[in-house]
Formats: sequence, structure tokens, C-alpha cells
Amino acid sequence: MSAQMSRRGFLGLAAGTAAALGLGLVGCGGSSSSDSGSKTYKIATDTSFPPFEFTDDSNNFVGIDVDLLKAIGDKEGFKYDLQSLGFDAAVAALESNQADAVIAGMSITDERKQKYDFSEAYYDSYVCMAVKDGGDVKGYDDLKGKKVAAKNGTQGASCAESLKDKYGFEITYFDESPLMYQDVTTGNSVACFEDYPVMAYGVKKGNGFKVVAEEKENWSTPYGFAVLKGKNKELLDAFNKGLKELRDSGDYDKIVNKYLG
Ligand code: GLN
Repeated sequence: MSAQMSRRGFLGLAAGTAAALGLGLVGCGGSSSSDSGSKTYKIATDTSFPPFEFTDDSNNFVGIDVDLLKAIGDKEGFKYDLQSLGFDAAVAALESNQADAVIAGMSITDERKQKYDFSEAYYDSYVCMAVKDGGDVKGYDDLKGKKVAAKNGTQGASCAESLKDKYGFEITYFDESPLMYQDVTTGNSVACFEDYPVMAYGVKKGNGFKVVAEEKENWSTPYGFAVLKGKNKELLDAFNKGLKELRDSGDYDKIVNKYLG
């Protein structure tokens, strides 16, 4: 116990000394830096939301969001740290000023527009429901008394919530898409709600799921890059400018086709 206290005392002293000497903690305080030329933005993202962000077989963090951000950052000359936190955690980090922006296949919704400023839309998406291929559930009518999996804070979860009373199912929540899928694979939940492009990618990769409902009409929302309302305008402007240039040059299509071609 005394060893711990003296360690704290030492760290406190060390931090105090660093502050007294005016040592800048470069890279640790991105949000508070006033020199925009050397600022490193903290950008938060999901952990596993392929093809938008995921870890590939060679253990690299890749995806459409990851590549778009890299190409835009290179073009517009801003530096950033990409932090893979999970969707709900990424939005919470933005909300509490721990992150400057979010890029995470984040849907642009009217409700979110009250709190965040979004870039131009960069990808169209909608919610779907998927089940284990070959199972009994063919649609919402088969969900009575069953459990359904959803991911915290997502449009998929909101969609599930809007249907649960009508169809009489219960929702189990997860923080990450793979955990939500696992709950269906093990049979605890009979279905999950996910963004269609992500589920379709998973099905193509052989995840053993099947899409049985597509909410194109009520739950279509394109993805955008988000900052806190009224904050980091220069970053948002740079993102929009870079995105437009990537679209004009054909590089946007190249990035998308790299994952979906
Ligand atoms: N597009 C969905 C949303 O914004 C899900 C995003 C995600 O799970 N990364 O709610």
C-alpha cells in the first residue's frame, strides 16, 4: 500500500514537473491544441463492422471507412489517430469530447442531426433482419416469444424496438456486431438486426446467415462522418472537400470496389 502511494506521489511529481517545465504532451491532447497545423485529431470508429472497419487476416485494421479517411487525410493534410472503440463507445467519446469525430458506418438521422454535424453522405444503407440460414424464422411473424439480438445505440436496435411489441419478441443487446451474430449462431437469439451492407458482406463471406427482412422504406439512412455540433468545422469541411475530390477522381469507387468489387 505504501509502495502504491509513493508511486502515485512520484507520478504526480513527474507530471507537475513536466507542466512546470512547459513540456507539451504532443499527441495526447489533440482536442485542446490550438495550433491547427500540427493538431492530431482523435477520430473514433467501430471495432468490427466489415466492410467499413475490421481487422483483416493479416491483422491490419482496414475497411472502406479506414481507407476513405486515410485518402482524405492525405489529400487535405490533416493528422489523426483512429481509435477503434465500438459504435456506441465511439459516439459516447464524441459526445464527451474525448473524440473529435466519428467515422463508423454512422447513419445520418434527423435525431442525430440535433447533436452532431454530418458530412455529405458517403454510402447508402438500410436496416435488415437476418437469421441462421436453414432455420425456422422466415420473418417478423415467427418472432413471437423469441429473443432477437441488436447492437447498442444503432439504427438496427431502434428498428427492433419499433417492432418488438407488435411482434412480441424480446431484445438482447450487444456492444459489437460479432457478439450479436454469435448469439444467433448459438441459438440464444433467433435473429439479429444489422445494416444490410454489413450483413450482405458477411453472408458473402460465408457467415451462415440469411437476410429475411429488409427495411428499405422506414430505415434507410446513408452514412456520414460526424463531429459534435458546431465543433471541428475545419475538419468537417476538409472531409467534405476530400470526399468530393475522391468521388471526382474515381478513387472513391476504387476504395469501395477494393472491398465489394
Ligand atoms: N449505421 C448504424 C447506425 O448508425 C450502425 C453503425 C454501426 O454499427 N457501426 O446506427
